[in-house]
Amino acid sequence: MWVLRKVGWFGVVVLVCLLHACSSEGDRARDEDGVEAKSVPYAIAIHGGAGYRSKGDEKGDALYMQRLNAILDYGYYLLENGKSALDVVEMCLRQMEDDSLFNAGVGAVLNASGEVELDASIMDGAHLKAGAVSGVRTTRHPISAARFVMDSSVHVFLSGSGADRFSAEHGLEQVAPEFFVLRSKKQRWLERNKQQAYAADPNRKFGTVGCVVLDKRGHLAAGTSTGGMDGKQWGRIGDSPVIGAGTYADDRTCAVSCTGHGEYFIRNAVAYQVAARMQFGGVSVVEAADTVVMGVLKRAGGVGGLIAMDKEGNIHCPFNTSMMFRAWRKSGEEAVIRIYE
Ligand code: ASP
Repeated sequence: MWVLRKVGWFGVVVLVCLLHACSSEGDRARDEDGVEAKSVPYAIAIHGGAGYRSKGDEKGDALYMQRLNAILDYGYYLLENGKSALDVVEMCLRQMEDDSLFNAGVGAVLNASGEVELDASIMDGAHLKAGAVSGVRTTRHPISAARFVMDSSVHVFLSGSGADRFSAEHGLEQVAPEFFVLRSKKQRWLERNKQQAYAADPNRKFGTVGCVVLDKRGHLAAGTSTGGMDGKQWGRIGDSPVIGAGTYADDRTCAVSCTGHGEYFIRNAVAYQVAARMQFGGVSVVEAADTVVMGVLKRAGGVGGLIAMDKEGNIHCPFNTSMMFRAWRKSGEEAVIRIYE
């Protein structure tokens, strides 16, 4: 009553409006660009490839876990501070491309001619925009080249010397092709005479890198980068740069990054198939990803796995090999880092 006497009815209405505005401002987070973020969960998942590895190499396992942990931490920090899903995907994958532990960038496997040919792709779940490069040999960070194709060209997919030239013209760092050829890999290539069929190696390890992210604005993004398959035919393109096979993101369903025997992932449109099962079949990310990796792919003879994240930040990482390097963290939860089952 005292308030009413002092300010009148009009004053009370203004006061209530002001209080309401203040409290809802407090509920909303603002990211670094000053854009209001919805109070949705945010999350990141990364993988460092799937394949066959017998347990017992504790030192080796610890090294992988340490690297996965560092990259996950970095990505989570960026995400927490309001970076977009696309930026987080690109920045994390650049780190992984710079790490010789993984089959991407400087750690890439060699093709049958003893050379490195790199593939990468990225997809924006908010607008279904995508960019990809394949067979690049001089672009230091293929994932950034893929991002440039998406953001600064009218195309989706560039290959070979054209892709390298495009990234050079956009100011991306260029290196000599030998930069990617590690001495240890060249040695192994010489010893094993890689002209024989890749499938002959029962202990094949993949090692492609991938990242899926849900940001504070509720947007999903996915990216994948790889040297492809060890001893591959020169010119061969795997699933990693193929949108819908190795990478897919759609805010309405999920973000997916795959790793494994690429030919099978292409034939089965694996990344898109997970999203499509969710969209048209109404199933969860867990059911969709399991059905594709443990059912469809396995029946076809395709080995590998994937990381998938839905629009609520639920994460599922099935694989039908003996292991997959993977790590994830959802807002408000602890980080998880795993290699085996
Ligand atoms: N999927 C990749 C390819 O076929 C290989 C991998 O995941 O390690 O090129």
